[in-house]
Amino acid sequence: MAHSPDDHPSKPACFPRHPFDDDKLREECGVFGVIGTAEAANFVALGLHALQHRGQEAGGIVAHHAELGFNSARRFGYVRDNFTSARLMDTLPGPLAIGHVRYSTAGSKGNTAIRDVQPFFGEFAMGGAAIAHNGNITNATALRRELIERGSIFQSSSDSECIIHLMARSLQRDIPERMKDALRRVEGAFSIVAMTGSKLIGVRDPLGVRPLVLGRIGDGWALSSETCALDIIGAEFVREIEPGEMVVISEEGGLRSHFPFERLSSRFCIFEHVYFSRPDSILGGQSVYETRRQIGVELAREAPMEADLVCPVPDSGTPAAIGYSQESGIPFAMGIIRNQYMGRTFIEPSEQIRNMGVRLKLNVNRALIAGKRVILVDDSVVRGTTSRKIKEMVLESGAAEVHFRIASPPTAWPCFYGVDTPERDKLLAATMSEEEMRLHLGVNSLKFISLDGLYRAVGEAKGRNPDSPQYCDACFSGDYPVVPADMLEQGFQLKAAE
Ligand code: SF4
Repeated sequence: MAHSPDDHPSKPACFPRHPFDDDKLREECGVFGVIGTAEAANFVALGLHALQHRGQEAGGIVAHHAELGFNSARRFGYVRDNFTSARLMDTLPGPLAIGHVRYSTAGSKGNTAIRDVQPFFGEFAMGGAAIAHNGNITNATALRRELIERGSIFQSSSDSECIIHLMARSLQRDIPERMKDALRRVEGAFSIVAMTGSKLIGVRDPLGVRPLVLGRIGDGWALSSETCALDIIGAEFVREIEPGEMVVISEEGGLRSHFPFERLSSRFCIFEHVYFSRPDSILGGQSVYETRRQIGVELAREAPMEADLVCPVPDSGTPAAIGYSQESGIPFAMGIIRNQYMGRTFIEPSEQIRNMGVRLKLNVNRALIAGKRVILVDDSVVRGTTSRKIKEMVLESGAAEVHFRIASPPTAWPCFYGVDTPERDKLLAATMSEEEMRLHLGVNSLKFISLDGLYRAVGEAKGRNPDSPQYCDACFSGDYPVVPADMLEQGFQLKAAE
């Protein structure tokens, strides 16, 4: 495979991970692929740009051209800063391309090397294949150990590379069959977009933990983590790839659907509805924006409070704050304003600037807040550091009372399925009761939506079915739908049976 001229640029001093934004759970990857269009890589670049919220550290594209074969480019930083130059995009010709944006996946968390940037590529007897993976393999350590003992030579520290090595060991005669063999050995969460020289392949794990959707663009097809990225290229949303489904798409043969795994009930990540996905995406047939607004409605019913204003912690708390305001009748106001241009201004902050913390990103609308009883609506509380600072700013601006309403249940357990989470003892809700958290944050009241309330907001009228939960909600409940084998080996303790 040919690499673009600058395929191994030096790593920037610091990634554009926002230095004041580490108090959120972060989705770790977005995937996108296109077949059957001229200059597919340009469409992939646009798709990745729309998925940038799922990963900002690095991105990569592999394209295939009938005469020029496979070509790839991998870069640190934002898609818009890399995959917009004609010089680079001209090196990625052809009607078939896939891409990946990365936050920081298992393996080299916080220390990404260009060799960890996807898509990964393998050359097999029957031709090349590239894969881009969103999710996390929960038995990757054991698989890697086994593969290395049998002679595999790993190029990266990423869990996703195991899939390429497992494919290399399969005796099947074509690449989709080898992928099936490989993925039957893999545990955990995976939404994969892959390609051969003539086929685009999409696969979701049997529980369908991470999203993957199918779109139509002219005579071609697109696969994407979210529908918002289909919109940007003018593709029509066709359907979601089903949990446990593999689609194999070729220009000649059209789309073929396979179900290579044992059929299981879906356990889609409920946090995609709360926070990870873009509000203009559609998940499970529902508008993400509308679900978040409905979470605010449920929250207002479960945790009413007399107050003068409902203010979102921007931007992610906004739809839930609108819902809370509509249900409670308390006026909605933008009491906190986000500086939209903060992103890359202070990539390497000095200590003095770092101490300014949240103030660089958020500012209180003092004229609105002074003397008011304010309900602040945020999507989640992770470590609680940002929530404390926001409370301080709002009180300094003269608010009479500050009440927090949180659009997710307490985050008390880490995610092992492709989301960057602090260790359990760093999660505020893992070590404190709700009242202890209220005292720690120093607010007049603190309420989280219940798990049942969240389920109602995503459309489950009867709430969570405790015998057979309809979603993955492990970071709230400690009920892990896939045993995190690697973590257990490292001493992680599952929740004791009740
Ligand atoms: S543990 Fe939480 S963030 Fe992770 S997949 Fe499950 S619901 Fe989503």
